[in-house]
Amino acid sequence: MNKDIITVTSPLLPDLGEFNEMLKDIWESKWITNMGQFHKQLEKALAEYLHVPYVCLFTNGTLPLMTALQALRITGEVITTPYSFVATTHSIWWNHCKPVFVDIDPRTGNMDPDKIEAAITPATTCIMPVHVYGKPCDTKRIQEIADKYGLKIIYDAAHAFGVEVPAEQYGLEAYDEKGLAGIMNAGDMSTLSFHATKVFNTVEGGALVVHDEKTKKRIDNLKNFGITDDVTVIAPGINGKMDELRSAYGLLNLKQVDSAIESRHQVAIKYRETLRSVDGITFWDDMSGVRHNYSYFPIFIDAEKFGMTRDELFFKMREQNVWSRRYFYPLISNFPTYSGLPSANKENLPLGNKMADEVLCLPMHHALSEEDIQRVLTFFIK
Ligand SMILES: *Cc1c(COP(=O)(O)O)cnc(C)c1O
Repeated sequence: MNKDIITVTSPLLPDLGEFNEMLKDIWESKWITNMGQFHKQLEKALAEYLHVPYVCLFTNGTLPLMTALQALRITGEVITTPYSFVATTHSIWWNHCKPVFVDIDPRTGNMDPDKIEAAITPATTCIMPVHVYGKPCDTKRIQEIADKYGLKIIYDAAHAFGVEVPAEQYGLEAYDEKGLAGIMNAGDMSTLSFHATKVFNTVEGGALVVHDEKTKKRIDNLKNFGITDDVTVIAPGINGKMDELRSAYGLLNLKQVDSAIESRHQVAIKYRETLRSVDGITFWDDMSGVRHNYSYFPIFIDAEKFGMTRDELFFKMREQNVWSRRYFYPLISNFPTYSGLPSANKENLPLGNKMADEVLCLPMHHALSEEDIQRVLTFFIK
C-alpha cells in the first residue's frame, strides 16, 4: 500500500508571500482585532461576492447561529432538520429553545416543506432549515409557511457559500438580468461558516447575513459584548469578532474561491461520469438553473445492489488511505443529547435515518489530481 492519504477535504490556502505582505501592514498598524481595516474590507467584499446587502463577520460559524436566535428573540420551539452538523441543533439548545425535528426530502436532503405545518404548535416561533451540501432549500415554500404562521426563518447556510438560484422560483430578488439571486437573501437571516473544511475558509470564521442596516448595527453590537461606546453597554452581547489576521487571510482566499469551485466542479463531473453506471450507487446531479459550489460529493449506497454496505466500503477505502466521510451519520436526533425529544423518534424521521445510513461523502476539494480521482474511483469499478 503505502500510498499517500487522500483526505476528504483540503483547505484552500492563500499565497504565503501575499499573506506576509498583509501581515506586515497589520504589524505596522498594531491594530490586530476589533473591527480593523481588513475586517471592514472583508465584510464589504463578501457582501458583493454573495450579492447580499450586509455581512457581519464572526469568529466561527456557530456564534452567528446563536446570535441570530438572540437577535430575533426566538423562544419556545424551533423547527429544524436532523440531517445536518450538530452545531445547528446545539445553537437552539444554547438559547434554551426546544428543537423540533422534521424529516427530510430524499430528493435534496433538505427539510421537507410538506412536513413543516404538522410540526407547528402554539409554541413555535422559528424555522431553522439547512441548505445541506449547498443544495438550496425551497425558500419560496418555506417563506409562505412562515408568513402564514408568523414565524421567523434562520437559514444555516454553512454549506451554501456562493450558491446562486433562479430568483423567481426561489421567491428572491434578482441581482442581474439573468435572473439569478444569492441564496443568502432568503429568510430573515442566513449564517455561514468559514471553517478550514469549508469551500471558503478563514481558518476558523463565519458570518451572519442580514437584510437591513438597522439589523446590521444590532448584530455588530451583539458580537462585541453589546458595547456601543466606552461607557455604554446596551445588550447582553457576546464576543464573536473576527480578528485582522484571519480577515486578511479571507480577503486573499476570496480572490481564488471561484477557481477552487471550478476545480471542484471538474471533480464532480468525473465522479459522476464513472459512478452513473455503477449498480447500487446513486448521487445527485446539478439542479436546473442553480450555480452550485460543489462543497461535498455525497453518494448513497444500496448495500444489496452494490454488494457491500456503506460501512464496509468506508473501512475498505480507509485501509487504502482514501478517506471518505460518513457525513451526516449519526443523525443529530440520534445523539443521546437529543434522542429523548418526542420529535427525535425514528418513526418520525424514517427518511433522514435512511439517508444517514446510506451516505458516504467522497473526497472533494480543489486540489484533487487526476490520479487521486482515479484512485477514489477504483473502489467502484468491478
Ligand atoms: C460547519 C458547520 C457549522 C458550524 O460552523 P463552525 O464554523 O465550525 O462553527 C454549522 N452548521 C453546519 C451545517 C456546518 O456544516
